[in-house]
Amino acid sequence: MIKDLVRRDVVNLKNYQVHMQQCKYKMDANESPFDLPEDIYARLSEVIRNARPNIYPDPLATRLRGAISAYAGVNADNIIVGNGSDDLIHGIMNSFVEREDFVLYPEPSFSMYRIYTLIAGAKPIGIPLGEDFQYHVGTFIEAVNKYAPKVVFLCVPNNPTGNVLSKEAIVDILESVKGLLVVDEAYYEFYGETVVDLIGKYPNLVILRTFSKAMGIAGLRVGYLISSNEVIDELYKTKSPYNINSVSQAVAYEVLKSGIYKERLNYIISERNRLFNRLKEIKGVKAYPSAANFILIRVADAEKVHQKLIEKDILVRSFKGDPYLNDCLRITVGTAEANEHLIKSLREIMQ
Ligand code: PMP
Repeated sequence: MIKDLVRRDVVNLKNYQVHMQQCKYKMDANESPFDLPEDIYARLSEVIRNARPNIYPDPLATRLRGAISAYAGVNADNIIVGNGSDDLIHGIMNSFVEREDFVLYPEPSFSMYRIYTLIAGAKPIGIPLGEDFQYHVGTFIEAVNKYAPKVVFLCVPNNPTGNVLSKEAIVDILESVKGLLVVDEAYYEFYGETVVDLIGKYPNLVILRTFSKAMGIAGLRVGYLISSNEVIDELYKTKSPYNINSVSQAVAYEVLKSGIYKERLNYIISERNRLFNRLKEIKGVKAYPSAANFILIRVADAEKVHQKLIEKDILVRSFKGDPYLNDCLRITVGTAEANEHLIKSLREIMQ
């Protein structure tokens, strides 16, 4: 039996669930609604040629790291690039987390913290968020003191709730953590606040970022991690040698250099604020304030609303079966047209 051969930690895991439904308005996965800019498409064959597809990619992503260094305001040596930030969460587990170690994370939050902890054979501990999904710093510090975790994840802004945690609060938690404190800044650009400036002071601080959201290239799988040289050195030891292909490295570089994300970012932030105000006006909808590119809502019968939105060609994220997100749906901010269609449809459904 193949099942008898499978690692104990893996045998009961389920596949990562993605909704394969095809809708005109894809507002379920916090991607960018914008295609690559035309000028990059126009130069794509040249970009690919220069990336030299017949030879292995640069395992250190040197050129891309140089551009990220300028963008993020940190030394290139303090950056490691991953095949999406998922790859880097996995890398943290591979280099730092042993069986019996505890890993803490907020709940609800990004599901992969728990899943990669389970794959590592370690012990995941979800720390429930407080009222209206706010972080409760005292509860986190208590849990840190109780479990002495190897890794603590904070997600700021938090996916899927959209709320944030102040830098002072992050520092309070950081001061109590003896393991690594990972601040997942996947949605940093939509928020504007970062703890990158603290890496010189705290060698155990790790920051995760991604090109999948504001940078708009989720399909090309590029993420990066910022930390002390000590942490980065250990991550290189377990990294797959050629984890990011040369085309993704080259296109990510072009996107960063083009600066196109800046105006798109302003557009999404202004649409998010508009969408939030409109959602609040709909009877029966509770909208949670968000510093990211999505908005969480609560309605009376989320599954029904989810299905009815699909009938209107809109796919949002449902959380069926999640005890923390009962009757919640997450809407990714789209173009003005998509957001209008969503508002109009939701208003009709909620009547
Ligand atoms: N962290 C958070 C908080 C996320 O929401 C996501 C994507 N949904 C990721 C990490 C992973 O992003 P990627 O692997 O595309 O870089």
